[in-house]
Amino acid sequence: MPFLILSDIHANLEALEAVLADARRRYDRILCLGDLVGYGADPNAIVEWVRENVAVAIRGNHDRASAAEDPTGLDTIETFNPTAQTSTYWTRRALLPGNRAYLEALPRGPLFYQGVDLVHGSPADEDEYVIAVSDAAPLFDLLGAPLTFFGHTHKQGGFRLARRTTRPLQPERTFELEPDYYYLVNPGSVGQPRDGDPRAAYAVYSPEECTVEFRRVAYDVDRAAAKIRAAGLPEFLAARLHEGL
Ligand code: ZN
Repeated sequence: MPFLILSDIHANLEALEAVLADARRRYDRILCLGDLVGYGADPNAIVEWVRENVAVAIRGNHDRASAAEDPTGLDTIETFNPTAQTSTYWTRRALLPGNRAYLEALPRGPLFYQGVDLVHGSPADEDEYVIAVSDAAPLFDLLGAPLTFFGHTHKQGGFRLARRTTRPLQPERTFELEPDYYYLVNPGSVGQPRDGDPRAAYAVYSPEECTVEFRRVAYDVDRAAAKIRAAGLPEFLAARLHEGL
């Protein structure tokens, strides 16, 4: 029963559609690590798709900021750079009430599901960026399950951890989960990759085979970028999709 692992879709419908076409018949359940919305031009379409198709989802910082009337959401906006703030206010206005309520009710990670932990940033803090070995190693004692999926950095990859050693995982490879190790795995971002590769990123986890496969797929970046421009969102959000940065 493989799982499709998606993170940081960021309201990019073209990227999501390409991922689903590429992943067809490779999975039977979908897990989502947050940041459904923000930056992209299709927040309602993405939230509606998640509501209908995803087995379990947790919130990301953009979901919290875009949906919330509550102070933590508003505090989140304060920490955003001007481009992210503009897109958050745009998203708040665009979201239909039912979709906004769904985002506001999304659980915060870590969330344990079917033997794996799901977090947006890190097991310690949903807003923390886990980028380097030096970020991951101190988290060892906080890992509840041997396999934790995380997002937030928009960089595909992750870490294999033991008490004394933490090693990076190579993106775009399938790797086998070895006993005696813990894993922090980032499927990458569906809708706004930031590792210099503009292709949409995702992962497939097979509990039976004890493997995680990192995958990338090209999508219609021109169309997604054109929608961002037509929506009046900042030009940078359209341009960066072409670079994958
Ligand atoms: Zn994100």
